[in-house]
Amino acid sequence: MDRKNIVEFVYDCEDKLKKEYEEIDKISFFNSMKVLKAFHDSKVSEAHLQGTTGYGYNDYGRDTVEEVYKRVFKCEDALVRGQLISGTHALTVAMSAMLRPGDVMLSITGKPYDTLDKVIGITPNDSSLISYGIKYEQVDLVDNEFNKEAIYKILLSKRVKLITIQRSKGYSTRESIGISKLEKIISDIRKVDKEVIIMVDNCYCEFVSYKEPTEVGADLVVGSLIKNLGAGMATNGAYICGKKNLIELCAERLNVPGQAKEVGPSGTNNRMFLLGLYMAPSVVSSSLKTMTLFSYAMEKLGYKVSPRYNEVKADIVLNIEFRNKYKLIDFCKAIQSSSAIDSFVEPTPSDMPGYDSQVIMASGSFTQGSSIELSCDGPLREPYIAYLQGSLTYDYGKIAVINVVSKFYDEGKMNR
Ligand SMILES: *Cc1c(COP(=O)(O)O)cnc(C)c1O
Repeated sequence: MDRKNIVEFVYDCEDKLKKEYEEIDKISFFNSMKVLKAFHDSKVSEAHLQGTTGYGYNDYGRDTVEEVYKRVFKCEDALVRGQLISGTHALTVAMSAMLRPGDVMLSITGKPYDTLDKVIGITPNDSSLISYGIKYEQVDLVDNEFNKEAIYKILLSKRVKLITIQRSKGYSTRESIGISKLEKIISDIRKVDKEVIIMVDNCYCEFVSYKEPTEVGADLVVGSLIKNLGAGMATNGAYICGKKNLIELCAERLNVPGQAKEVGPSGTNNRMFLLGLYMAPSVVSSSLKTMTLFSYAMEKLGYKVSPRYNEVKADIVLNIEFRNKYKLIDFCKAIQSSSAIDSFVEPTPSDMPGYDSQVIMASGSFTQGSSIELSCDGPLREPYIAYLQGSLTYDYGKIAVINVVSKFYDEGKMNR
């Protein structure tokens, strides 16, 4: 195939996706209305775009950002801070805030995201939750379904303080947890345990559907602002939303006992966080369309993808299975060369803090590590899966599809 045919091939793929794109547009419109209403109800004004320094007392902008988040998540309170370094940090703060020595924490989506191994103590660490006397238990998914029997057995045999549910698949091959499945398991848990705190790791799932976890019964929901809700505008930060008393505990854990949400200078964050949230429904829709196009095109080229183009999406991450180390590396190189920043740089596999195997990452992003921007990564282990996500606009995503398809053809790498 020459370049012209490749462009035609990608346009042909796009033509087949009208129905999927229509549904993505509907969700984006719905979430835009939700965001705008939250801005209106919170009376966001120009003054709120300013930030504070030092202690961060009387930070009306920061308080308003949190008010808007609270309304978007339809819950009692929110903590949205630049002092939360990342999603991992926000999850760490939330778990540390909920758990006391002797308490039991239970993950019902199997082993959590790799960067939490040392936080929990699955990989021993002197500062882990386990080192503080917290007990950790885990129930794996079975064929992508919650193992309700095993969960019930634990809940009925002992007092569990915190249940964690990770929606997005992380570096695994399981399916991500859609909002209906989440709603169902939460209501099932409530049948046997009214007390247990249910926390949801919502990374990559925000605005992918009509509802957020706090709307279907979660007590706490956690996510990163260099993913969906930052929309590429926020240059750091994370959020925790949920029940008022729990958010208070999180704020005391993050900041200072006794000062909770009252402190924490926002610097230049208020404007970025508001702008990011405002743009997020549309940016998430660009990511979803990009992933749908990649899914369709890579499947046509013979690769196993998940989710397939016509499956309901629970997050913005696409798995492409290469079953070959060199193809995975080539794919990441092609994504890197499609970026605006560092397009001339060749990604190479390397060790990463918090990860087991070597990882290759393509992230030519405006914000370091931002994965709402076009990016892809994959651990160098069987079956050599690339985890692709993002694109701030659909056009840049489509250009990346064209580049990937043409690179794979040009260099004859399809047949390696
Ligand atoms: C990205 C991610 C995290 C961690 O977020 P960081 O901001 O990268 O620390 C946690 N859980 C899931 C499911 C994620 O996708």
